[in-house]
Amino acid sequence: MELPNTFEVERCPFCGAIRVHGRYVDKNVETVLRELAEEYVTRGRVVEGLDRIRVLEVMVLGSTVAVRLSAEVSGVEVVQELPVELRFRKSPCPRCLRVKSRSYEAIVQLRAGNPRGRALVTEIAESFRNAEGVVEVKEVDEGMDIYVADKATALSIVREVESKYVVRVVATWKDSRIRDGRRKSKAVYSVRVYFISSGGTVELRGRVYTVEKFGTSSVTLVDRESGEKVTLSLKEFWKLEPNIN
Ligand SMILES: [Zn+2]
Repeated sequence: MELPNTFEVERCPFCGAIRVHGRYVDKNVETVLRELAEEYVTRGRVVEGLDRIRVLEVMVLGSTVAVRLSAEVSGVEVVQELPVELRFRKSPCPRCLRVKSRSYEAIVQLRAGNPRGRALVTEIAESFRNAEGVVEVKEVDEGMDIYVADKATALSIVREVESKYVVRVVATWKDSRIRDGRRKSKAVYSVRVYFISSGGTVELRGRVYTVEKFGTSSVTLVDRESGEKVTLSLKEFWKLEPNIN
């Protein structure tokens, strides 16, 4: 069996992202090499007369990669380990280039949905200060703004915040303005952050409820007067325009 003598891998010197087929991915070298080896094998480039060729393992040992392949020769399985030289080439990814030049494509605006949400806003924003792709974290009168190099990273920040906190993404829009004769469009994600604890109070359509449970997908409330218990999906809950203390 044969493989190329060398694998050249383009890697961003700042964040370590690896370029695969023209795109930068946040995967480790072994995973990427394994995928490349599998592609190579499925394209049938290894050798004729072999069946069921599989990549068993890819191990990176310094500048050498050991690729373990298995194949069948006339129905008999053979396993072979092939050494391939690994070469890295430094190539900054577009996201890091934007961070270096302090340019951004998106802003995540964190705003407190209720007074107690204010501390959370700061806590969340600070947790992303050193995150990959974050250009700047800025305190503004209304809350915190996170400037992000690319939209995909901004969206993943929004998703991460959504999965951990009680938030409502209230608006996303594009702000396009012409700068240096070029139209630049920025995505803005406005995220309201709520601090809600069980035992807290919520007002819905003039009725006061005690929060029994608040999850990332549903909320259970108890009517203060009647003692009636209601469970709402978060979507239904926000639709009722709750007043959260
Ligand atoms: Zn990078």
